Amino acid sequence: MQRFPVVIVGGGIIGVMIAYELTRHDPNMPVLIVDQSLAGQGASRFSAGVHFPRGASDTVRRFSQYSHTYYRDLLQRHPQAPIHPLGMTVVCKASRQSAVEAQYLPLADLREVSSSLWPTAALDLPGEHLALTGEGANHADVQGLVRYLLKAMGDRVQVIEGARVESLGGSGAHVLELSTGHAIHADKLVLAPGPWTAARPWQSSLAHLGIRVKKVVAAHVRMPVSAEDGLIVFQDDDAFLLPLQQRGHWLFSYTCDEWDVDPGTVAPSLSFTDINDARNVLARYAPAWAERLDGGRVFCDAYSPDRVPIIAEVGRHLVFAGAANGSGYRLAPALAAEVLSLL
Ligand SMILES: Cc1cc2nc3c(=O)[nH]c(=O)nc-3n(C[C@H](O)[C@H](O)[C@H](O)COP(=O)(O)OP(=O)(O)OC[C@H]3O[C@@H](n4cnc5c(N)ncnc54)[C@H](O)[C@@H]3O)c2cc1C
Repeated sequence: MQRFPVVIVGGGIIGVMIAYELTRHDPNMPVLIVDQSLAGQGASRFSAGVHFPRGASDTVRRFSQYSHTYYRDLLQRHPQAPIHPLGMTVVCKASRQSAVEAQYLPLADLREVSSSLWPTAALDLPGEHLALTGEGANHADVQGLVRYLLKAMGDRVQVIEGARVESLGGSGAHVLELSTGHAIHADKLVLAPGPWTAARPWQSSLAHLGIRVKKVVAAHVRMPVSAEDGLIVFQDDDAFLLPLQQRGHWLFSYTCDEWDVDPGTVAPSLSFTDINDARNVLARYAPAWAERLDGGRVFCDAYSPDRVPIIAEVGRHLVFAGAANGSGYRLAPALAAEVLSLL
């Protein structure tokens, strides 16, 4: 049986970021990632990949600040990493301006802009709204970033893909039984299973955390994209419009309220209701754009009860990291740092 000091279950952005930080911290420590599919093919594959410098609570703002600095430094060391700084406009009701500004980090440097400078998609804003321009957003190809980090780690990390963890056992150390028939011995085990939090091997260890899984939808908007276009955040609806430069169209992310879905069976296509809900939200800000929605992307993500991501010791040498509430890309570096402090 192969034995590793640290095994990470889940090769999504959170699991891979943890491995990346572990191997940076100690290049000689062998780390193994096990994924039931290909690394990066879970929630990370569907991610819109937006980072905005904000948080609804002090902890999330602290995580957001950490991740912001981390991604900036990563890009300096690795200019080829698929992360792209992005201009940002935040739209909100004028009466909520100070509450909204309080959610953003000082580095965002939000400033009100006159309507003559509003981005095209915000030209039809209802009268009581205003637009703030700010710094510090970025956009990543999250699946590409997973592959990039794996390659950057080289042989400091071993990855077993297409092997589901079927059971956890052992005393003193963890023994993982894989669907391939192999067994792995782990001195320390990190669970980063994305929305698969209710899977049998760790269901009872995680039950007390109160994690729920929500469907996440983002619709495609058939409007042309130019090099100057940036992110437009509709703060009061927790929605945003993202220019997808590589694909030549926009993505509209809105809040879908469908809970307790199963990542194994969530429908891969948008329903009539999904498109209708997206259209209704976008029509409040940009009615002409709302008529240009066609398909999009659907998956799900794990959510914590207080909307703060969870990093917790859930057993002896057993750490859970996830439930990032639809923000797993933007908060992954902060989660990885917290995991390292626990291991
Ligand atoms: C449509 C959409 C848009 C989004 N937009 C954004 C955004 O703009 N910004 C942002 O920050 N976040 C966004 N998110 C959320 C973000 O994508 C997730 O929070 C993040 O990808 C979670 O990463 P993860 O590593 O926890 O999970 P995952 O990427 O799902 O990785 C978990 C891995 O665990 C593996 N696994 C599970 N069970 C087992 C098992 N038994 N054995 C072995 N392996 C197993 C899975 O195969 C999977 O690869 C979005 C999500 C969606 C769906």
